[in-house]
Amino acid sequence: MNVLESETSMISPMQTDPHLAPRTPRVSRTVFWIAVLSGALAFGCAPAGETPAASTTQSLPLDLSGLEVVDLSHSYGGQTLYWPTDTQGFRHDELAFGPTDGGYFYSAYSFCTAEHGGTHLDAPIHFFEGGLTMEEIPFDSLLAPAVVIDVTSQSAGNADYLLQVDDIEDWETQHGTIPTGSAILLRTGWSRKWPDARQYLGDDTPGDASNLHFPSYGEEAARLLVYDRGAKLLGVDTASIDYGPSEDFIVHQVAAAAGVPGLENLTALERLPETGAWLIALPMKIESGSGGPARAVALLPRS
Ligand SMILES: [Zn+2]
Repeated sequence: MNVLESETSMISPMQTDPHLAPRTPRVSRTVFWIAVLSGALAFGCAPAGETPAASTTQSLPLDLSGLEVVDLSHSYGGQTLYWPTDTQGFRHDELAFGPTDGGYFYSAYSFCTAEHGGTHLDAPIHFFEGGLTMEEIPFDSLLAPAVVIDVTSQSAGNADYLLQVDDIEDWETQHGTIPTGSAILLRTGWSRKWPDARQYLGDDTPGDASNLHFPSYGEEAARLLVYDRGAKLLGVDTASIDYGPSEDFIVHQVAAAAGVPGLENLTALERLPETGAWLIALPMKIESGSGGPARAVALLPRS
């Protein structure tokens, strides 16, 4: 898919969303998003009884007051966790800090980071030659209804837990079939261990990734989500969409071959409902990049 095509892509009606009835004409993602956020397309904000003046320059209505924004990203800094083979960590070097000759304050820094550390996106090119690079990833992978699958209890007793097809079937028994176009967020509870590398990764030996232990997606579950459910993104609150002991990174391979990005090292997934939230995950737009830092947030109805 080329970039122009992707940026104007349409979404298919969501099976569980009342805003989109089956006969709804094709609606652009932007318009649909605005409709969801505002609750209704109520133009203008004049007091009751007054007719708002017609204006061709009026902004589209966007009311976030009924929504809660949950930050799903860890901060970048000296404690940010990277894959053990990335030993440089996050560098943030001061270029200036203090008063200037001009009498005003000025601060600036440079930063240096591997693509795959902290809360970051994996582009399909990461594990699939010819796959999309960072700047080519379509918005319907980055801005999508979130489906949260919880395996916290299974993972608590087994650090190498793999999401099973049975877990997905259990989820669907409760919530219905996962809608096409969803962003899947796998909740393991592992973000509580951040930034303790030994706890979070299973091993804190610099340069050695051969003894890692943390839960993630199983291969068959990933195939079901990507191919049968049309998932647009696989996210997780551990370091990888493959579990710690993986040697072939098969879930990365499956997702990348299908053009589905990964979103790793998420946090605060315990604050999300299993359905009803929207994910916005906007990564740094790195030309030809295989991944990069992402600010991920969820929007959900304020309780
Ligand atoms: Zn990555």
